[in-house]
Amino acid sequence: MDLQLTTEQEMMATAARKMAAKCIEPVLRKHAASAPLPKAAMLEIYGALADFGLTAARLPTELGGGGLSMIDYGLMIEQLPPVIALSLISHEGTIMRIHAGATAEVRHAYLPDLIAGRKIACAANSEEAAGSDANAVRTRLEMADGHARITGRKMWISNASVCDVVVASCAAEADGGGRPRIRRALVDRSQSEIEVRAIELTGLKQGHLGELVFERTMVPPSHLMDGEGDAGKYYVVGGNGNRPLLGLMAVNMAQRAFDMAREYATVRQQFGQSLASCQLVQQDLAEIESAVISSRLMCLYALDCLDRGMRGDGTSAMAKRFATHHAERAVHLAMQVHGAMGISEELALEQLWRDVRVLQVPDGTMGILALIQARSLTGVAAFRPGMARP
Ligand SMILES: Cc1cc2nc3c(=O)[nH]c(=O)nc-3n(C[C@H](O)[C@H](O)[C@H](O)COP(=O)(O)OP(=O)(O)OC[C@H]3O[C@@H](n4cnc5c(N)ncnc54)[C@H](O)[C@@H]3O)c2cc1C
Repeated sequence: MDLQLTTEQEMMATAARKMAAKCIEPVLRKHAASAPLPKAAMLEIYGALADFGLTAARLPTELGGGGLSMIDYGLMIEQLPPVIALSLISHEGTIMRIHAGATAEVRHAYLPDLIAGRKIACAANSEEAAGSDANAVRTRLEMADGHARITGRKMWISNASVCDVVVASCAAEADGGGRPRIRRALVDRSQSEIEVRAIELTGLKQGHLGELVFERTMVPPSHLMDGEGDAGKYYVVGGNGNRPLLGLMAVNMAQRAFDMAREYATVRQQFGQSLASCQLVQQDLAEIESAVISSRLMCLYALDCLDRGMRGDGTSAMAKRFATHHAERAVHLAMQVHGAMGISEELALEQLWRDVRVLQVPDGTMGILALIQARSLTGVAAFRPGMARP
């Protein structure tokens, strides 16, 4: 077992950090911290992500992707500003869905612009009554006059207000057992009408979370994607990849909090001594560093499990739950080290506190992640009474 990154991985992570500092952070700083970035700014950032091979990080290189393993993708995700990383994993995951499930004609029509970062994609599954219960999708797909029509409302969708392409899961005609069949449809916003409503969150405010309303929205039948079966199953596969990546976004924030706390503890004097020489402050610093390192290792371990072909339900759920919980604690302790400065808007630690909290919800709430991990441990699913292991 080798817990050291290879030289190539070190170089990859350093290059991603430099690219973020040069091409992404200046764009974020140019715009209000408390409002969604304009689409032009997002496209500028997506251009930089594309040049770096991150827009389609896991797609094989011969298809125009980055050909990265999960662990290498994760190492780079940790270096990106989390608000951009959250947008990127939705875009990249949607490219993977299109690659896996769309017809050749649709793949050729959409993938080049999405890979080049000229267009932005999102995946819409969640609805008012289908949050943790991803299979409870009610958005209807009906066939009429040679077209598919979609009616329903998708909630909490990353990239909603800046996307050009949506892959939406819908309930279609019933299967043999009378249950509605879940199908996914690619909706091109330049061809099909969708109403978009922004949703404001407590953190990650430069991002684009929103609601998508479909009112008999017409979609060509060629845009229906049947690849991997039902939405719930796909949600599991996508979620297992996304969860450690979300954990690494939390690690990015915890690392920032640690860097700030360590620096402040050495310069701030009280009682004629630096805070760094106080034992309780040292304990806070030790706890923050432990949170950063243990979370990072757990997320990388979960990604390595996926690279080794394991399904990873339990390890991915554990990694995200652990990292987002400990990162929130790390930011809290860093605020404590800063005293009043920790809660001032001037320092941006309070913003980090609100940002890190947001990561505890997408791709599995804390409670649901514990249930997924425990299902892997026991073989018993506790989501709803009598539910067997899938
Ligand atoms: C920033 C962000 C980005 C997102 N991006 C996307 C996206 O791009 N696409 C998309 O489709 N969705 C997206 N989502 C939606 C996200 O996946 C859902 O919010 C999440 O799955 C939780 O669903 P919910 O909010 O409806 O909570 P609910 O499912 O209503 O859960 C509420 C609470 O009840 C608990 N709970 C629920 N069921 C059980 C149970 N059986 N046993 C015990 N406890 C239970 C949960 O743990 C939680 O604490 C995003 C959400 C956020 C916040």
